[in-house]
Amino acid sequence: MNFASKLVQKVKDRFGQHKLKHYTDKLNEIGRHNLETWDDERLKAASLKLKNKARDGASLDELLVEAFALAGEAASRVLGMRPFDVQYMAGTALHEGNLVEMQTGEGKTLAAVMPAYLNALQGKGVHILTFNDYLAGRDAQWMGPVYRFLGLTVGFVRDGMTTEERQQAYAADITYVTAKEAGFDYLRDSIAMSQNDIVHRPFHYAIVDEADSLLIDEARVPLVIAGEVASTGTDGSRMASLAKELVLGEDYDFDENKRNVFLTEEGAEKAERILRSGNLYENHNSHLLTALNCALHAESLLKRDVDYMIRDGKLELIDLYTGRVAENRHWPDGLQAAVEAKEGMQTKSSGKILGTITLQHLLSLYPKISGMTATAQESAEEFEETYSLNVVEIPPNRPRVRVDYESRIFTHKEAKLKALVNEIAEVHATKRPVLIGTSSVEESDLLASELKKAGVACHVLNAKNDEKEAEIIANAGELGAVTVSTNMAGRGVDIRLGGGHPEQADAVAKLGGLYVIGTHMNESARIDNQLRGRAGRQGDPGSSRFYVCLEDELINRFGIEKAIPAAYRTKKQDEPLEASIFHKKMEHIQRVVMGQNFEMRKTLNKYSDMVEEQRRIQHEQREAVLANKESLSSTERHVKLYHMDRSWSDHLAYVAYIREGIHLESLANRNPVDEFHHRIIHAFEQLPDKIEKETAKTLSKLSSSGGGSKDNIDWEKEGLKGPSRTWTYLIQDQFMEKKANIFGL
Ligand code: ADP
Ligand code: MG
Repeated sequence: MNFASKLVQKVKDRFGQHKLKHYTDKLNEIGRHNLETWDDERLKAASLKLKNKARDGASLDELLVEAFALAGEAASRVLGMRPFDVQYMAGTALHEGNLVEMQTGEGKTLAAVMPAYLNALQGKGVHILTFNDYLAGRDAQWMGPVYRFLGLTVGFVRDGMTTEERQQAYAADITYVTAKEAGFDYLRDSIAMSQNDIVHRPFHYAIVDEADSLLIDEARVPLVIAGEVASTGTDGSRMASLAKELVLGEDYDFDENKRNVFLTEEGAEKAERILRSGNLYENHNSHLLTALNCALHAESLLKRDVDYMIRDGKLELIDLYTGRVAENRHWPDGLQAAVEAKEGMQTKSSGKILGTITLQHLLSLYPKISGMTATAQESAEEFEETYSLNVVEIPPNRPRVRVDYESRIFTHKEAKLKALVNEIAEVHATKRPVLIGTSSVEESDLLASELKKAGVACHVLNAKNDEKEAEIIANAGELGAVTVSTNMAGRGVDIRLGGGHPEQADAVAKLGGLYVIGTHMNESARIDNQLRGRAGRQGDPGSSRFYVCLEDELINRFGIEKAIPAAYRTKKQDEPLEASIFHKKMEHIQRVVMGQNFEMRKTLNKYSDMVEEQRRIQHEQREAVLANKESLSSTERHVKLYHMDRSWSDHLAYVAYIREGIHLESLANRNPVDEFHHRIIHAFEQLPDKIEKETAKTLSKLSSSGGGSKDNIDWEKEGLKGPSRTWTYLIQDQFMEKKANIFGL
C-alpha cells in the first residue's frame, strides 16, 4: 500500500469508527436491560405493553432499546441463538433506514428480526424481501417462533398461493416474501374489480435481504401482468429467415461492445429489396426495422444455452447473474418473438400488458426501506444516489482470516482451463473442499466434463429448484466436495465447514477451509466479492483465487486493443502472465465497465421514471373509483374501471412501441429522451377525456338496452368483462440496456 492509500484507509477507519460509535452506544443501552432472569410470561407482557405504546403513537426510536432487548432474549430462548453484539448494531442500522454491509454467514437473518419486530409493533405490517421463494419460507419458519413468542404474527408468500393465502400472509405483522411476488401481487391488486380481491395493505416498511442484487442488479427489471387478448405482430419467421440471409460483417455489424447490432448501408438495401418495403428508415416502416433489428439481435447476439435454453418446447431465459434458468421471464415483446422465430417455435400470443412496474419503483412505494448484504461498499455511490441509502459497514463478529490470492491471468482460454483443472485436482487430492464459480451453464458443464476426465467427481449446480440447490450448496464445505456453480447460485445459504457433518469441521479447517475459485472476472468487483465471501464465514479459515484470461468476455467487450499491449494480444502461453501491469489493467477494466453500467442505468431511469409517474396518477385515480361507493352506482363503477384499465393498457402498448423505436430519433439528431417524454406526455393527457367519453357511451348503450340501472348485468355478454385470464412475468431488459449503450444515450 502506498502512502496516499494508507492515508485514505486511515481516514476511512476513523470515519467508520465514528459512525459505529452511535451503534455501540445503543448496544450498551440494550445491554443494560438484563432480561435473562425474567420468566416467559413477564417477557410476553412487556411485549404487549410495547405494542400498545407503539399503537398509541410512541416513537419507535424511543422503543428501540427495550424492543431489541426483548427480541434478543426471545431469540435466545426459542432459537438458542443469543444475538451477537454486531447483530444488535446491524439491527439498529436497519431500523434507521441504512444499507447494512455484513459479511456472509454473520447472521443477517437474525439481525433483521429486531428491526422487523420493532417496526411491526405499529401494526402496519413489515415486509422482509428475500432473495427467492425458498428463503422466504425458510426464514419465516426459522424466525417465526421469535415473533410468535412476542405476540406477533408472521407469514410468508410463495409462488402458487391462492388469493386467500396471500391475504392472510400480508395481514400478518411480519411477512417474508420476494420482491417479485410482492410486486406481482401489487399488479394484480391494481386491476382488481372489487376490494375483496385486494391482497396488500398499504406498504409500511421493507427490509431487503441480499440488497445489492435487488436494488442494483435486478432493480430495473419490469414486472408485468398480462391478460388474454389476441395479439398481432409482424411475421417473425419471415424476419428470422431474412436475418439468416444477411451476412455479419457485410450487411450488419456489432457495435464495439458487442451489445447491439446495426444494419450497414448494403444490408439495408438488401433487406429493402427482399422485403419490398421501400426505405426502411421511413416512419411508416419503423415496425419492420424494429422487427428486423430484433431478428438480427436474436440471430447473432443471443446464444442458445448461454442466454437461453429450450426445455419441453419452452423458451427459457438464463439469468445473467445467477447463470440459472430465470423462471417466468421474457425479453421485451419484439425480441421474445424474434428468438422464438429463430428457433422455429410457434410464437405464442403474448397477451396484452395490463400493468407493469419495475422493482425499483415498487420499492419506492414503501415509506421506509433498509437493506442488508455482504457486498455493498463497492456500490455505495449508487445506493446513495438512487435510493438515498447510506452504507453502514458492520465489522465481523470474529475477525476474518480468509486469504484472497492474486488472480492468475492467462493468455487464452485453453491455458486457463488446463490450469483450473490441475489446480482443482491437486487441491481435491488433499480432500479440501473446493467451490468454483463460473459464468454460465455452458462453462459449468465444460469444466465439469474436464474435471471428470481428470478423475474428479463434482456437483454441478444449474438446477432449477432453489431448495435442491440450497441443499447442494450447504454441503459444499464437506470433506472432498467439489462444487461447480454458476455465479451467485445458492445465495443466502450458509456453507459450514464439514457441511452437515460437524465431526468433519476440524479436518476441513486444518486443510485450510473452503477454497473458492472464480473462473472469470465479473462485471463488478461486488459480484467477485460475493463469490469470495463463500469462504471464511464467521472467522473460519478459507481462501479464494480468480482465474482469468485475455479472451474472457469482459475484456473482449471492453475492447482488448484498448487494454492490452499489442504483443500480448495474440500470444499464447501455458503459464500465467506475471507482470503486475496486467493485474492493474484488469482492475481498471472492471472499474470502467462498472461505471458504464451505472451510467446506463441512470439514463434508462429517465425513460422509466416518467412512465412510473403516470402509473401513479392512474393508480390513484383508479383507487378512488374503486373505493368511492358513496357517488357511483356499482354499474357505473364497473364500466369506469373497465375503461380505465383498457385505456391504460393501450397507453402501455403505445409506450412500449415508442420506446422500442425511439432510438431511430437519435439518428435524426434529436434527443431520444426528450422525444420520448414529449410523446408519452401528450398521449397520457388524452386519457381522461377518452375514459369519460367511452364510459358515457357504454352507459348510455346499457341504459337504452334496459340494463343501465340494474346491478345484475352480464358483463361477459356485454363485452365488458376484464381479461378472462391473467398471468405475470418479468422482462429481461438487458436488451434496452444494450440499446441505450450503442446510441450513447
Ligand atoms: P447471513 O445471512 O449473514 O449470510 P445467516 O443468517 O444465514 O447469515 O446465518 C449464518 C449462520 O449463523 C446460521 O447457521 C445461523 O444459525 C448462525 N447464527 C447467526 N446468528 C447466530 C447467533 N447469534 N448465535 C449462533 N449462531 C448464529
Ligand atoms: Mg442471508
